[in-house]
Amino acid sequence: MATNAILSQEEAAPMKRTKPSTAAPTADAVAALIHARRWQAFADRDRSLDGTFVFGVSSTGVFCRPSCPAKRPRRENVTFFDDALQAEHAGYRACLRCRPKAVDGSPQSALVRAMCRYIEQHIDTPLTLNALSKEFRRSPFHLQRTFKSVLGVSSKAYIDAVRFRQVKQNLQAGHDVTTSLYAAGYGSSSRLYERTASQLGMTPEKYRRGAVAAVIRYTIADSPLGRMLIAATDKGICAIQFANSDHELQQGLMREFPFATRRPDDQALAEWSVNLTRLMQGRELNPSLPLDIRATAFQRRVWESLQKIPRGETRSYSAVAKKIGMPKATRAVARACATNPVAVAIPCHRVIREDGDLGGYRWGIERKEHLLAMEKAAGA
Ligand SMILES: [Zn+2]
Repeated sequence: MATNAILSQEEAAPMKRTKPSTAAPTADAVAALIHARRWQAFADRDRSLDGTFVFGVSSTGVFCRPSCPAKRPRRENVTFFDDALQAEHAGYRACLRCRPKAVDGSPQSALVRAMCRYIEQHIDTPLTLNALSKEFRRSPFHLQRTFKSVLGVSSKAYIDAVRFRQVKQNLQAGHDVTTSLYAAGYGSSSRLYERTASQLGMTPEKYRRGAVAAVIRYTIADSPLGRMLIAATDKGICAIQFANSDHELQQGLMREFPFATRRPDDQALAEWSVNLTRLMQGRELNPSLPLDIRATAFQRRVWESLQKIPRGETRSYSAVAKKIGMPKATRAVARACATNPVAVAIPCHRVIREDGDLGGYRWGIERKEHLLAMEKAAGA
């Protein structure tokens, strides 16, 4: 799974943009600007950008902060990451010289980092400069200037880019145009609609129709938690759901992918179905379960973190929030758990309340209890 809303390469874009836009910078253009700012900081060993990104060096397997005094590596060996966690996920280890994990960076870089995370988490709200100014208790002018100098783009361009990518993901997932725009924080104004159209290079309807020509195959089988549905695109599993009846499961799939062609295919999915059942019973520890799911940058962070909780163990929502470096985001973590599209494969059942209460579960609290009990028993 990719981890950043803006900087990661487009995944599975179903269509190419047909003409470049002049109305507003596209997400790709914003990513390019941020990239350019990072190259400059890399070349200048710019201390003021420490904490806003790290760079990994493929020839040594080490990652550094921008100001690292070591000799600059060749550019073709350099990859940028938003933070140390991402670099480590990609298999790099921290440089012993500049200790990129030891510094939090300048106050400016910390502020901009916090702003980016806030924007990603609140993309469905009106993110005006005034709203940000209130949230971060700084003047709009100060916010503007700091953001631009650290990231190389204005906060408005950044918000637009995050929003635009979110709209695309929503459309690709098959949601209707109005829902897609609203969920990404666009109102219903025709101006925004037109701008989205110009950024997409076509109307959102047309984009959606192209995106949803996708075929989703599914199977429904028995599992230790009742009837289970597994659905997959040609790239991987896009849904794992539980319910009491097959009808309920089919209805759920229709709601989630209303425009895709949904085709039952027991044979093609039999292996995953068996693997998943074994996983639940602790008889298979590392089944191959490729996922093809859409997520915001924040959801991805949470979900990747959940996949690291060992079987048989649990973590609290606040512990997960801390783990991903956002200790105040406990409620957002709970929301991300509640919107997990693939039960068990992303083990949101291993997250419980601080006081030991099981908290909620998208597929019912009894199933969560049962799953945890099976995992404990398998480990004992
Ligand atoms: Zn270094």
